[in-house]
Amino acid sequence: MKKIGIFPGSFDPLTLGHLDLIERGSKLFDELIVLVAVNTTKKGLFKPNERVTLIEEAVKGIKNVSVEVYSDGLVATYYRNKNAVALLRGVRNALDFEYESNIAIINRKQFESLETVLMYANEEYRYLSSSMIKEVAYFKGDISDMVPPNVRMAIEEKYGTLKDI
Ligand code: ADP
Repeated sequence: MKKIGIFPGSFDPLTLGHLDLIERGSKLFDELIVLVAVNTTKKGLFKPNERVTLIEEAVKGIKNVSVEVYSDGLVATYYRNKNAVALLRGVRNALDFEYESNIAIINRKQFESLETVLMYANEEYRYLSSSMIKEVAYFKGDISDMVPPNVRMAIEEKYGTLKDI
């Protein structure tokens, strides 16, 4: 049976840190599903379907990765329906570790055979977060080292660039 991994997140927007995790994570599973999970507490820059398109463009070269959106329930429910073997999540620092530990426990309480695999962020990208990038982009700062080129273009379409001022 195929080993399916699920990488859930907001991906608003996809960063080079996420992409690195997807590339490395894709080697752990037969199939890796990047799941754009709608977070009720975070206001989005991109609509869930726009995020899916941006991720699909960025992962085009990785054969066993697909992208889906899920807004109908808990990630644990999706996991069970897919017969997945693990959730993949990233850890950048101690704060992430605390946060991810709590989510892992809550998920396990929904479905007791659910496993969470935590992967350390690449040194190069561990400072990156979608929320910081949104802040820099809002003020038309340079985000070219932080997101894939297609995401940068989509953000610049929304906010413009410094050259426009
Ligand atoms: P969520 O709202 O579910 O936290 P995010 O899109 O912010 O969604 O993050 C999804 C996952 O990716 C989380 O596990 C997060 O820790 C991880 N992640 C975020 N940024 C990075 C990064 N720069 N490097 C590695 N992992 C990251």
